Amino acid sequence: MLYIGCHLSYSKGYEAMGNQALAIGANTFAFFTRNPRGGSAKKIDDSDVQKFINIKNEHGFGKLVAHAPYTMNLCSIDKDVRFFAKKVMSEDLVRMESTPNNYYNFHPGSHVKQGTDIGIELISQQLNEIISPNQSTIVLLETMSGKGSEIGRNFEELGEIINRVEFNDKLGVCLDTCHVWDGGYDIVNNLDGVLDEFNRVIGLDRLKAIHLNDSLNPCGSHKDRHAKIGCGYIGEKALINVINHPALKNLPFILETPNDIDGYINEIKLLRENYIE
Ligand code: FE
Ligand code: FE
Ligand code: ZN
Repeated sequence: MLYIGCHLSYSKGYEAMGNQALAIGANTFAFFTRNPRGGSAKKIDDSDVQKFINIKNEHGFGKLVAHAPYTMNLCSIDKDVRFFAKKVMSEDLVRMESTPNNYYNFHPGSHVKQGTDIGIELISQQLNEIISPNQSTIVLLETMSGKGSEIGRNFEELGEIINRVEFNDKLGVCLDTCHVWDGGYDIVNNLDGVLDEFNRVIGLDRLKAIHLNDSLNPCGSHKDRHAKIGCGYIGEKALINVINHPALKNLPFILETPNDIDGYINEIKLLRENYIE
């Protein structure tokens, strides 16, 4: 079963996102749990959530891939920024329990001159204070392109964080095709080899979701500029191979391509047409 969707706006609530997903041919989606730049979160309306859960069950949606605000930096050099990041993630995870058993994806963070080792240590420490053994949500570390001082530029860095977290059965990875490509993993010519390496370093059982994006830049560029499917260096054929790979086939695929809603409708249609059941 192909679970495919894109980012939807949370501004009108869950039921509205469910209906919009149906309208565009999606059966999963991503949404920012709050303003992507941070800020306070909308209050959860239980009846809205229940209406959404009915839609999700009736139409057999895959797991949702919520996205933390991208300014959240668990390994900032500034203690207040780190504390704020911890507060945001902890609150978001409480809120996520209103729609149990979904995914919460975040960018590991940027170490900004502190060095990778300190970055990894701060992120792991914070996750140890945030993650509860009782939560139903799986927290996903996103693979990053390695622009600036981003942590998560290779599989080793993500594996190291996971190893240092006590309740790491609550952790997984979201693989962003643009980011790994920009990070130097050649998913065009050697998808099998990249996934073998993922398996060796992290374990494929940790791979829970895919951000499906083309890239405006060549492999290894560390730029992180997304392109529409088929309009970048990765190309349509390689991305179709990604959705059909036996190790990936049943994961939720989230488009983060620079599109308006009509563009997403077309990309979802194209991918469905090229998916082999
Ligand atoms: Fe992201
Ligand atoms: Fe992404
Ligand atoms: Zn990106």
